[in-house]
Amino acid sequence: MPSAAAELQPAPAPHADDEAARTAEIFRRFEAAEPAPRTELAFRDPFTLVVAVALSAQTTDKAVNKATDRLFAVADTPAAMLALGEEGLIPFIASIGLFRTKARNIVALSRIILKQHGGVVPLTRDALQALPGVGRKTASVVLNELGIEPAVAVDTHVFRVAHRLRLAAGRTPDQVEAELTARVPAPWLPRAHHWLILHGRYVCLARRPRCAGCIVADLCPSQGVIA
Ligand code: SF4
Repeated sequence: MPSAAAELQPAPAPHADDEAARTAEIFRRFEAAEPAPRTELAFRDPFTLVVAVALSAQTTDKAVNKATDRLFAVADTPAAMLALGEEGLIPFIASIGLFRTKARNIVALSRIILKQHGGVVPLTRDALQALPGVGRKTASVVLNELGIEPAVAVDTHVFRVAHRLRLAAGRTPDQVEAELTARVPAPWLPRAHHWLILHGRYVCLARRPRCAGCIVADLCPSQGVIA
């Protein structure tokens, strides 16, 4: 993932005020284009959101939605997921990468939610991250999506776009998340994750970014550099 950082040539350090204004203008334009961005994952409540996000690692949201459309029709609660069990769950998610590990984690987290939290998903970062298969990124997506804690979960799209727009220089997702959290003005922070993901998914593509149609091209140090 860090290879995106290597795409850029070294440049003189810009003035902090200029950079703050540039960052603000980038997010002002994202907001003008899409004021209320949402996750493309289908979910009904916190439990189905946790399951969908856990399934989405290294898989497209589209593939996850196809699987959960059928899965949630038969199991959309921790009790129902536990009753389904690993072997019962696998046929629903077998088209998704790492499905055996994901099935094991989803059944295990369903058991913990049922036995230790009365069947209700615990919505604190520590409790979420204590669930099997739920790391910092998954917890950030869940907490941000439910409006509990603004968090910029960093996946491959966010990492790449943040580097290309020179909003972050970190070598790891955690470093990039810390930089974005410090840099993105508070009113835009809860939506920053979605804007950066959507921009990476549909405009700032990994191999051939569509700079000609990019709404922040004039603010991007990478414009035209990559292609
Ligand atoms: S100008 Fe190109 S490289 Fe920069 S954000 Fe837009 S699409 Fe990505």
